[in-house]
Amino acid sequence: MSSRVKSVAAIQKIVTLQQRPFQFSGKGIRARTEKIEVNMRVLAIGAHPDDIEMQCAGTLALCTKRGDQVFIAIVTDGGCGSPTLSRQAIAKMRFKEAKRSAKIISAKLIWMNFTDGYFFENEEHRNRFVDLIREVKPDFMIIHSPNDYHSDHIYAGKMASDVSLLVTAPSIKTNLPPTEKMPCVYYMDTTAGIEFIPEIYVDITETVQTKKKMLLCHRSQDLWMKDQYGMSITESMEVTARYRGLQCGVKYAEGFRQLRTYPRANTKRLLP
Ligand SMILES: [Zn+2]
Repeated sequence: MSSRVKSVAAIQKIVTLQQRPFQFSGKGIRARTEKIEVNMRVLAIGAHPDDIEMQCAGTLALCTKRGDQVFIAIVTDGGCGSPTLSRQAIAKMRFKEAKRSAKIISAKLIWMNFTDGYFFENEEHRNRFVDLIREVKPDFMIIHSPNDYHSDHIYAGKMASDVSLLVTAPSIKTNLPPTEKMPCVYYMDTTAGIEFIPEIYVDITETVQTKKKMLLCHRSQDLWMKDQYGMSITESMEVTARYRGLQCGVKYAEGFRQLRTYPRANTKRLLP
């Protein structure tokens, strides 16, 4: 066989693999992903320390495994999260917990330090969000869904999706220069999955223990959740991840939706 014929055969094999949409097996049908990108910059933005771990840490762990660089931005200081400690004392503790957790997957923690419970739309907050994206230059972001349960989640999610359109504009003057491209945007699950119908699932069965380990770094929140809601942080995660797994035929999963407004939609699967 000539080398040209050989290379055509090799290309055909690759194309066939990439185009095959489903993999059939005796244990059911597993959706196959299209060609998956690697070595991307990923920015997850959570309103409070532990939100990211609860909703998308399994996915982020898979991202670092495939070679992506992961950034976790925490918008508020988590100063509401204790029934007994002062705002300052609990915020200090939560920063340390978040740092320990991010380290587990070698993610870079960005602590934005806004006041817990008081995050909303204003010029200062907007400019800080523009600079956050301009600093990280993510290929895609994972943010809160607009229908989540807490106002900090809702405003942080809305702010992130709003400014993702502005970051390339030279006329938007902040501390950092404009980026060359806008990131794709994915919404993570809502708290307890309420009124959130995932359109993309990520199988996190192989990283669920890492997710659990990260969550357990947030010891103060485990105590807070038991005090406020009568449930441990890991129990709550377990229920949601198993339920999302049930929906897509794996043991544990995380669910996402994508922002499809112009011009941030894409044709490839970026999530693992
Ligand atoms: Zn939260």
